[in-house]
Amino acid sequence: MTVLVNPRALRDHKARHFKMLIGGEWVSASADPIERVAPSHGVVVSSFQAGSKADAERAISAARNAFDTGPWSRMTGSERSRILLKAADLIAARSEELAYLDAIEAGKPISQVKGEIAGSVDIWRYAAALARDLHGESYNTLGEATLGVVLREAIGVVSIITPWNFPFLIVGQKLPFALAAGCTTVVKPSELTSGSTLVLGEILQEAGVPDGVVNIVTGTGPEVGAVMTSHPQVDMVSFTGSTGVGKLTMTNAAQTLKKVSLELGGKNPQIVFPDADLEAFIDAAVFGAYFNAGECCNAGSRLILHKSIAKDVVSRVSELARGVKVGDPLDPTTKVGAMITPQHLEKVAAYIAGAKDKGVEVAHGGETLDLGMGQFMAPTILSGVTPDMAVAREEVFGPVLSVLTFETTAEAVEIANSVDYGLSAGVWSRDFDTCLTIGRKVRAGTVWMNTFMDGASELPFGGYKQSGLGRELGRHSVEDYTETKTLNMHIGARTGWWMPQAADRRG
Ligand code: NDP
Repeated sequence: MTVLVNPRALRDHKARHFKMLIGGEWVSASADPIERVAPSHGVVVSSFQAGSKADAERAISAARNAFDTGPWSRMTGSERSRILLKAADLIAARSEELAYLDAIEAGKPISQVKGEIAGSVDIWRYAAALARDLHGESYNTLGEATLGVVLREAIGVVSIITPWNFPFLIVGQKLPFALAAGCTTVVKPSELTSGSTLVLGEILQEAGVPDGVVNIVTGTGPEVGAVMTSHPQVDMVSFTGSTGVGKLTMTNAAQTLKKVSLELGGKNPQIVFPDADLEAFIDAAVFGAYFNAGECCNAGSRLILHKSIAKDVVSRVSELARGVKVGDPLDPTTKVGAMITPQHLEKVAAYIAGAKDKGVEVAHGGETLDLGMGQFMAPTILSGVTPDMAVAREEVFGPVLSVLTFETTAEAVEIANSVDYGLSAGVWSRDFDTCLTIGRKVRAGTVWMNTFMDGASELPFGGYKQSGLGRELGRHSVEDYTETKTLNMHIGARTGWWMPQAADRRG
């Protein structure tokens, strides 16, 4: 089902012109700004500063100075927590504006983004709570002469690089935890969707985050991001995006041995057994594959179905997919919005064409959609896919579901684990043993059982294999932005290796 794009919706929209935030000042770059054309309506909706290497260096220097001199890095956890809670309240107060920006810049359905902003508010509040609970360890078990204290210290300056698919949500999975730990930051949003992150900069200033603690530099990855991942004054890089740029990030960071946290791609399977609640699964299959137009690292892009149910499931998933509303992101009933760029739409269409060439059957969709303006892709189901094909192995990042089949549990596990990625997986069965067997054998950072793509601020998120390094969210997420320091304390007179015995010295 399609929702035609309303040509009037953005006709009177005045493009919003954003500046960058460096050292507490809103500044312009010297180059011409980057204009963002709404992927749904084809009009310029925002313009961002095209930051340069020098801008990135100034931002890093501001963050370094703020970290080294305080006050943020020296505040009590309670003070930082109070400011993060204020930020959460201000995000909630401006949620309509933030949702609208992400909807028009990324082409995301407005009702979906509102949910993402609400989820983000919860994450900021969770990080605020953790700010007060960051602590180390003490060892009183090392003998009478020794007391060991392990401190958790903020790691320092953190570069945060985010993609376009969840512009506000993803920065919220990194920044509040880095801030809770007492770090200072340089943030680079995607050049396509920087608006909501820049509004966040205003919010953080209003909440009381001191100058230089959060710097936001817009511009391209090769210009701004490359400096942020290699500069010697940066202590850690937290990156979300493609596996290719993730590897480049690690290579750059290795030159100065920075800590690196990476959230990368996925090719996530949903494994379905004949005894599953198929009614519930069919909905989760459609949701998993088409949520955010499949432009989602967590997309359930592979169905691994028991052979005995495959035909029935494909027909029922196709039936439900037919009813999914694709179209104008600003229509509150839309479920699937626009594809991010015309080039990306072409890339997704090429994957489908390649699969067809290999004899795969298109059970549903398979074509780009003309909705009057913008770029859209029909929810697509490819059946008869085999594990060696590109659509079974590579991250398509579009609304494309590949269907594979299995006969034994061992075979299902083998297919699930046969790709380079290991971000998440789903298993569907009413048998507890089956769910746990799959849950323990599939190499993925999250395994959903009889559900898909649920989440909570308390639950860690991240990937095995080439899906990434480290975890976000969860109670250890603030610790990721710290170093440990050991204080090894001696009590009483010390006896030495070459020194005379303490008793002799005392005479
Ligand atoms: P990228 O990995 O290129 O972009 C992610 C972020 O990294 C952006 O802010 C980008 O900047 C930045 N970046 C790009 N090059 C560099 C660099 N040399 N140094 C530092 N930072 C850099 O993803 P794309 O947007 O190009 O998407 C391509 C594919 O990546 C998608 O088709 C999808 O498969 C995957 N992807 C996965 C995501 C995930 O959530 N795991 C998210 C997005 C994409 P800028 O784009 O502004 O130049």
